Amino acid sequence: MSQAAIAYTQPAYSAAAQQALARKPQLFIGGEWVDSSHGALIDVEDPSTGKVIARTADASDKDIDRAVAAARAAFDDGRWSAMPPMERERIMIRLADLLEAHAEELAELEAIDNGKPKGMAMAVDIPGAASEIRYMAGWAGKLGGETPSPYALPQGAMFGYTLREPVGVCAQIVPWNFPLLMACQKIAPALAAGCTLVLKPAEQTPLTALRLADLVAQAGFPAGVINIVTGLGETAGDRLVRHPDVDKVAFTGSTDVGKTISRNAADTMKRLTLELGGKSPVIVMPDVDVKEASKGAASAIFFNSGQVCVAGSRLYAHRSIFDSVLEGVAAVAPRWAPRPSLDPAAQMGPLVSGEQLDRVMGYIEAGKRAGASVVTGGDSPTSDGYYVNPTVLADVNPQMSVVREEIFGPVVVAQRFDDLDEVAKAANDTCYGLGAGVWTRDISVMHKLVGKIKSGTVWGNCHTVVDPALPFGGYKQSGLGREQGRQGIEPYLETKTVFLKL
Ligand code: NAD
Repeated sequence: MSQAAIAYTQPAYSAAAQQALARKPQLFIGGEWVDSSHGALIDVEDPSTGKVIARTADASDKDIDRAVAAARAAFDDGRWSAMPPMERERIMIRLADLLEAHAEELAELEAIDNGKPKGMAMAVDIPGAASEIRYMAGWAGKLGGETPSPYALPQGAMFGYTLREPVGVCAQIVPWNFPLLMACQKIAPALAAGCTLVLKPAEQTPLTALRLADLVAQAGFPAGVINIVTGLGETAGDRLVRHPDVDKVAFTGSTDVGKTISRNAADTMKRLTLELGGKSPVIVMPDVDVKEASKGAASAIFFNSGQVCVAGSRLYAHRSIFDSVLEGVAAVAPRWAPRPSLDPAAQMGPLVSGEQLDRVMGYIEAGKRAGASVVTGGDSPTSDGYYVNPTVLADVNPQMSVVREEIFGPVVVAQRFDDLDEVAKAANDTCYGLGAGVWTRDISVMHKLVGKIKSGTVWGNCHTVVDPALPFGGYKQSGLGREQGRQGIEPYLETKTVFLKL
C-alpha cells in the first residue's frame, strides 16, 4: 500500500539556522576555533532536500594530534580534575541550562542535518541531551573509594583503601541518528569523572556538535577540557582510536566499525566502551489490546525513521492475532508517512543520506526477491530527499537478510509464533542483544520472557524508553559496557588501591 501524496517542500530555515550554516569550517581545540591544517572540507546535506547546505572541516592527522594534545595538557595540569567537584557540577549544569535555552535553534539544526522532524527533536533529542548532562553532573561530587577491611591480613596491621581517579583523555565518537543526544551522553560521564575529551560527531551530522562547542565556551569550561573536531571516521576517527595519548575510547555506531575500533585500540590497551547495532524483537502475546499493541509496534520501528539502535525491527505476533496485528500496524503506518523535517505535521522524516536510502531500499528489494510480501510501504516516494515509506514485510523466514541484518530504516519483518519457548528462541536467534519489547497483560508471562531474552534492555508494553539514571547497553555483539546510571560513569574511572603499614 502506498501512502497518500504529500508535498515535499522543506519550509525556510530560520535566521539562527542560516547563521549556523554559514559558520566558517573550523575545529574547536583548546577553547578556540582553529583552522584545519590542510583545509579539506566535508559537505553537509539536508536529507529533506538532498541539497548541500554547509561544509565542515575534515580534520587531518595533525589536527587530531593538536586536539589530543590540548586534552592531554588540560588533563595533566588538573585544571578540570582538581577543580572542586561542586564547581565542575555547576559548570555542567550551566551547559545543560544553555542547551535548554537554545532548544528551538538546536532542534531546528538537528532536523535540517539529520532529517528528523523538528518536533521530535524538541520533544526527545534536546531535552534528552540536557538531562544526560544534568544527571551526570550530580555524580561529580558523589564519587569516591572504599575502605574495605583486609581479609587475609592481621587486623590493625595494615590499612587499605581505594581511590577513584579519572581515566584521563577520552576519544568519543558518535553516530548520526541522535547527534546531540549521543554527544551529550558521551561527554557527560567523562566530565563528571574529571576526564578531558575529544568529541568527533558523525561526518553526516556535525551541526549541533559545533553549536555545542559555542555553548561549552559560554558555560565556562576551562580551555582544552572539551575539544570538538569534525572529520571522517576512517581518518580522523581512526587517528583518535590509535593515538597513544588517548586513554579511553567511547564509541557508538555500527557493530562492524565497533569491531575495527576494538582491534585498533588494543595495541595501546585503551579503556573501551562500545554501543553498537541491534535487531530488536517486539513480541505480542495473544492477551493484548491489539490496537494498542499494534500502535506500539509501529512506533517501535517507525520512530526516527527506524534509525534507532533499539528499533523494534522484528515483530513476533501470536498466531491467533497475527493478522489483526499486521492490519493494526498497516492502519497506523500512514500517520508515519515521511515529510520534510521542518514541516510541523511531520512525525517521520527522510533517512539521513542517499547512502542510507540505497541501503534500506536494497534490503527491501532483497527481501522481496527472497519471497517476502509487502504489507504496506516498500517504496521511496519520488522526491529530491531521502524518503522511504513505513514498510511492513510478511512471509519472511529466519534465513532472509531482512530478518537477520540491521536495516536501520523504517522496515519491520513480521513473523508468527505459537508458544513462549518458541518465541524466546526466535527472539534470541541473532548476534545482537540490545533491546526487546514484550506486549502482554500477563505478569507471569512478562517475567518469564524477561528472564529468557538475552538483551541489555527489555521493555514491557512500551519500547525505546530510556532514562539517564538507568544503564543502557548491549549483550552479545550489541556492545561492551554500559552507559547511563552509576554504571555509565564507572568506565571513566580507574581504581587505585592503597596499603599503609600501621
Ligand atoms: P558508523 O559505525 O558508520 O559510524 C559511527 C561513527 O564512527 C562516526 O562518527 C564515524 O565517523 C566513525 N567511524 C567510522 N569508521 C571509523 C573508524 N574506522 N575508526 C574510528 N571511527 C570511525 O555508524 P553509523 O552508520 O553512523 O550509525 C549507525 C549505527 O550506529 C547502527 O548500527 C546503530 O545500531 C548504531 N547505534 C548504536 C547505538 C547504541 O547505543 N548501541 C545508538 C545509536 C546508533
